[in-house]
Amino acid sequence: MAEKILVVEDEPSLQETLIYNLEKQGYSVEAAGDGRAAIEAARRIAPDLIVLDVMLPELDGFEVCKILRKEMTVPILMLTARDNEIDRVVGLEVGADDYLTKPFSMRELMARVKAQLRRTGMLREEMAKLKIPETDSPQEVLTLHNLKINLTRREVLLDDQVLALKPQEYDLLLFFAQHKGQMLSREFILERLWGWDYTGDSRTVDVHVRWLRQKIEKEAGEPTRIVTVRGGGYRFEG
Ligand code: CA
Repeated sequence: MAEKILVVEDEPSLQETLIYNLEKQGYSVEAAGDGRAAIEAARRIAPDLIVLDVMLPELDGFEVCKILRKEMTVPILMLTARDNEIDRVVGLEVGADDYLTKPFSMRELMARVKAQLRRTGMLREEMAKLKIPETDSPQEVLTLHNLKINLTRREVLLDDQVLALKPQEYDLLLFFAQHKGQMLSREFILERLWGWDYTGDSRTVDVHVRWLRQKIEKEAGEPTRIVTVRGGGYRFEG
């Protein structure tokens, strides 16, 4: 079955170009022209990926992203006209998975779309390999001292308290847990988790590690769980 992509773009000519090119690649495409329609469409079709413009009527892309993030784990690729660090950080903060700055080439867009879909496909395969049902019981729990990762519910408990983790933080923590004791370079983490190649901004990894440390370390400034390997990357000690 063709993967479903929801395109959210208010500019008619760009929306049309996106639909045309994505359909040509064999995806099944649905489009929305404003933020409210986007949320409605996402709930209705449960897409495999969302291409989301930031500047939209009704609700902007950040708001749409924030709302959908609470409901689904679908990868979100944001389109922005403004190329600056603040937008990027805001986008990551509301839970976007990747970014493209306008103007971009269709070729670049297709590469990002494929990378995101490959990443979710890979995570699904890894889940299947671990024989973890995606929904219903029995629940699989990974225990690391006072940290419990409930793989079925995608929920993390620290000292039996539920931690509010964003999807990327959860994915990152699970990735660390699956590679406990191994040195993981920023590039490797980026490639496996975000589907970016090494030219991607590896500071993205640092940002997420910082947030994760604030949530799971006793002293975020002196981490003992996620340790920095000088000149290398990170190592998860458990
Ligand atoms: Ca727009």
